[in-house]
Amino acid sequence: MASHSRSKILVSACLLGQAVRYNGTYRLAGHEILARWQQEARIVALCPELAVGFPTPRAPVEIARGGDGADVLAGAARLFENGGRDVTDLYSAAAHIAVARAVAAGCRYAVLTDGSPSCGSTFIYDGSFSGATKPGRGTTAAALAAAGIVMFPESDIERLDLVLASEERT
Ligand code: SF4
Repeated sequence: MASHSRSKILVSACLLGQAVRYNGTYRLAGHEILARWQQEARIVALCPELAVGFPTPRAPVEIARGGDGADVLAGAARLFENGGRDVTDLYSAAAHIAVARAVAAGCRYAVLTDGSPSCGSTFIYDGSFSGATKPGRGTTAAALAAAGIVMFPESDIERLDLVLASEERT
């Protein structure tokens, strides 16, 4: 018998075959480990941008030059669509929705789509809309980190699976 109950994991919805990205695509579908976690009822799927009311497709958004998600939440940086609309307040609200959802579901872990201005956990785009990236977190990832949730990019799903196996070993 397992000594721990199964950990819940917040997962970016676009990693589960949901075509919710800004350009109407998904990022992963049918990933073997994510499918197993779904069968184990571990997964709490969320797209924070849709949760706050954005449609799909929607304009690409980047955090203005120099800033990252933590700066946004501290009021020291802003996010803009490529057409110039300031969407900082909506992205901040999306981050708070994600934290509330994760806490309510008891998630200690998250697997998030890297590079997103919301979900990026190791890199984001640099604000120039040129395709250039830089190390940093998006707004939702920064808020989840501040709430103590341990996050992994989609390239590191296997590592979280090993962590869970170790924690839940009999
Ligand atoms: S906000 Fe997150 S879950 Fe939604 S499409 Fe972007 S990366 Fe995926």
